[in-house]
Amino acid sequence: MASISLQNVQKRYGVVDVLHNISLEIEEGEFIVLVGPSGCGKSTLLRMIAGLEDITGGSVSIGGKVVNMLPAKQRDLAMVFQSYALYPHMKVADNMSFALKLAGIPKVEITKRVNLAAEILGLDQLLDRLPRELSGGQRQRVAMGRAIVRDPQAFLFDEPLSNLDAKLRVKMRGEIKKLHQRLQRTMVYVTHDQTEAMTLADRIVVLNGGKIVQVGKPLEVYQNPTDTFVAGFIGTPEINLLDAISLGPDAIEVELADGTRLPLATPSGLVAGSAVTYGIRPQHIETSNAGLAGEVILVEPTGEEQELSVKVGQIEISVVAHQKDALNEGDQIHIMPQANKALLFNAESGQRIA
Ligand code: ADP
Ligand code: MG
Repeated sequence: MASISLQNVQKRYGVVDVLHNISLEIEEGEFIVLVGPSGCGKSTLLRMIAGLEDITGGSVSIGGKVVNMLPAKQRDLAMVFQSYALYPHMKVADNMSFALKLAGIPKVEITKRVNLAAEILGLDQLLDRLPRELSGGQRQRVAMGRAIVRDPQAFLFDEPLSNLDAKLRVKMRGEIKKLHQRLQRTMVYVTHDQTEAMTLADRIVVLNGGKIVQVGKPLEVYQNPTDTFVAGFIGTPEINLLDAISLGPDAIEVELADGTRLPLATPSGLVAGSAVTYGIRPQHIETSNAGLAGEVILVEPTGEEQELSVKVGQIEISVVAHQKDALNEGDQIHIMPQANKALLFNAESGQRIA
């Protein structure tokens, strides 16, 4: 088990800077999720930790030792990919034990480790099967088993659940979390899926355009996004981000273009007329008797809740209402943001206004 430290890590392909000065301290045993949109550099960063990609600048340390020049094989890390990369002609047990055989580990020890991993992952009955005789979820498990038997210092996962259907993805997500609780190993997990990030991580690292934009515990990032990008990326349905102006440093409202006013918990301190972005999550808007008048234009029931699009003046606002409200398209309603949940951002920079 080991800590992983990234200091000013950079990656350049030709003239293109893919990662800019990434610095991050990953603690021993921590579950870190790197999350961000496709192309933001997540896989590249993970592969640099793994030793599968050269490091253009900065340093990567594992367990306190700089590993920049250390080949992947000697880093004592196990990686699980989106494509499970199983050997098609080898049975499950052989897929799992192959790396150990290459490493010259005694047969008795190999059998012990494979059996233990198979038990942890519920693969005991499948050890004699070939990959093509397995379901997608079972193949994914074998790929994880292959990582577990190596008993590495840290596990690296690159979108390991992306090839599974939605239901299985949720199940395997829970299993990976249990695996972490059981093994207590350092895990670095890459995903573009904010729900996976929220549910798995001890800490989330949000990447955008090759830079770290925020690091924090899932709920911290959700409640206190540093900018409009993070606010929009984390949380579902997506937060409402509305163009507004300040009504003065002491005002506890902001105003939309059509004159609609939205509440703040504390004054913004901004001079009247400053352009701001008012952020409010759909879950933090009440349907009430007073407030902004609007029309329900879309209802998406999700079970206990309804996700609504409400047209207020010229804008559409997402609202999560309780199913018991039983709203329908065409209903005229009033909605009110909870002032203490409103997030204010600088309209130009997108940065949060404290
Ligand atoms: P993510 O995993 O977040 O989707 P990647 O790390 O795969 O993103 O890619 C980050 C960026 O680096 C992308 O813009 C991609 O096009 C670029 N990139 C990745 N690999 C190479 C390569 N071998 N040569 C040139 N550009 C690359
Ligand atoms: Mg990727």
